[in-house]
Amino acid sequence: MSDFLTRAEYQNIAEHLTLPTEAFINGEFVAARSGKRMETVNPATGNIIAEIAACGVEDVDYAVQCARAAFERGDWSQKHPTERKEILHKFCELMRANMVELAVLESYDSGKPVSECLTVDLPETIHSFEWHAEIADKRYDSLAPTGLDAVGLIVREAIGVVACVLPWNFPLMMAGWKMGPALAEGNSVVVKPASVTALSTLRIAELASEAGIPDGVVNVLPGPGGIAGEALGLHPDVDVVSFTGSTVVGRKFLQYSSQSNLKKIVLELGGKSPFVVLDDVKDYSKVVENAAAASFWNMGQNCTGNSRLIIPRSRKDEFVELFLQEIEQNWSTGDPFEPTHNLGSMVSKGHFETVMSYIEQGTKEGGKILTGGEPLAIGSGLFIPPTVFESVVKDATIAKEEIFGPVTAIMPVDSDEEALALANDTEYGLQATLFTDSVKKAHQYGRALKAGTVSVNCFCEGDATTPFGGYKMSGFGGRDNGIQAHDQYTETKTLWIDLN
Ligand code: NAP
Ligand code: MG
Repeated sequence: MSDFLTRAEYQNIAEHLTLPTEAFINGEFVAARSGKRMETVNPATGNIIAEIAACGVEDVDYAVQCARAAFERGDWSQKHPTERKEILHKFCELMRANMVELAVLESYDSGKPVSECLTVDLPETIHSFEWHAEIADKRYDSLAPTGLDAVGLIVREAIGVVACVLPWNFPLMMAGWKMGPALAEGNSVVVKPASVTALSTLRIAELASEAGIPDGVVNVLPGPGGIAGEALGLHPDVDVVSFTGSTVVGRKFLQYSSQSNLKKIVLELGGKSPFVVLDDVKDYSKVVENAAAASFWNMGQNCTGNSRLIIPRSRKDEFVELFLQEIEQNWSTGDPFEPTHNLGSMVSKGHFETVMSYIEQGTKEGGKILTGGEPLAIGSGLFIPPTVFESVVKDATIAKEEIFGPVTAIMPVDSDEEALALANDTEYGLQATLFTDSVKKAHQYGRALKAGTVSVNCFCEGDATTPFGGYKMSGFGGRDNGIQAHDQYTETKTLWIDLN
């Protein structure tokens, strides 16, 4: 804790921030052409922080045109990969130099605890850009096994104009996951951040320009999803959309693509991830620690949030006792600028109401709340403490639908087989957590769980080196992270040279 500033100091930094309120297109901040603006709020206080550009179809057209012109100009797309890498590293240095300011900005606009922004969001965002930058001059193309009469080169080329449509739960981190590999490969990007959390992405666009990324390569357009997001999805000169958000909107992008130019679509969507404890687990101390993180981290506004805790019935009472102790001791909710808090405010009034309605529904359907359930009366903020439902049945709404809040359900089972079947009984497949004392079961159950990431004896999504994305309705068309993320921002070309 000693490395953190005080609540008052973070508040003071926030009050003196210069807020980026316009769109960033072709290397400069510009107002939306319509002159329209939208409010962005600090959800922890309800105060309006700023009015930002609300971009529309004409702004999307202009940004895509600038991105395409930059791509064709070649001062980024054709730059030597090592030089691209070096400029991206300079960009990372600038983010690091401005880390406290960026973390405060992220917290201020989203309600996330500033301590989390400083220790997770910012370091991971920067690491993501750095890791992908390193791939720029380290990944080799390949050569086909031809006879001596021909050379068959299989090369990857930057795809062109990449649209990144972002969610509000990890604003900068998702920007890093998508912009990192896209830029490293030489593409131009047009980024549409979520409307409620656009400020930090606008600020890093300015830093990207300062680092020497040429004009038109990085463009950031805040704007309503149904207008600016749709315009990107339908645009005939966008080559790929990389989207993170809800399954409902993800489906729309597939329609936009089919109605326009068949652009590639990559979707990272929702989840209903299970936390499975097999009956061989002896010590529950690590189990409850991870169950709390899996359920409540980022106020449960986490696509891999585990909201189905599948526990052996014979150990349920022990689990409940230790789990409630863990929550009581280690999970405090309140003012995001107070660095001792690890849960801040829900992102918006609308989302707060959605989560509260799930809690109500859970109770109506017979669920018993063991802790939480009521919002905390702190100013006009939107604070929901960790909420645990006991003995939830598999057909209950809160056991089936994604809640995206700090609400979790204990679902006792009578055997490991039942646990596995229940874990897989969902239309989603983003992530699953598995606890076992057996290496054999780690492998066998790990393979049998239908999810893009299975975390064994931990709650972890992997890191920059490991691909991240969903099975079933949790994803489509590709993966973020890992070298695999680069595939979606490149085309594969065969260059066949006849030597006769
Ligand atoms: P969302 O409503 O789907 O919004 C995501 C983005 O799409 C925002 O930028 C939004 O703009 C835009 N958008 C909204 N309607 C659109 C439309 N009709 N056409 C084009 N774009 C549109 O999701 P969210 O509420 O921000 O995020 C929560 C969801 O994201 C959860 O379901 C969660 O599971 C999922 N998520 C998944 C991952 C993953 O990696 N799989 C990660 C994080 C979150 P506005 O902001 O203007 O509405
Ligand atoms: Mg906001």
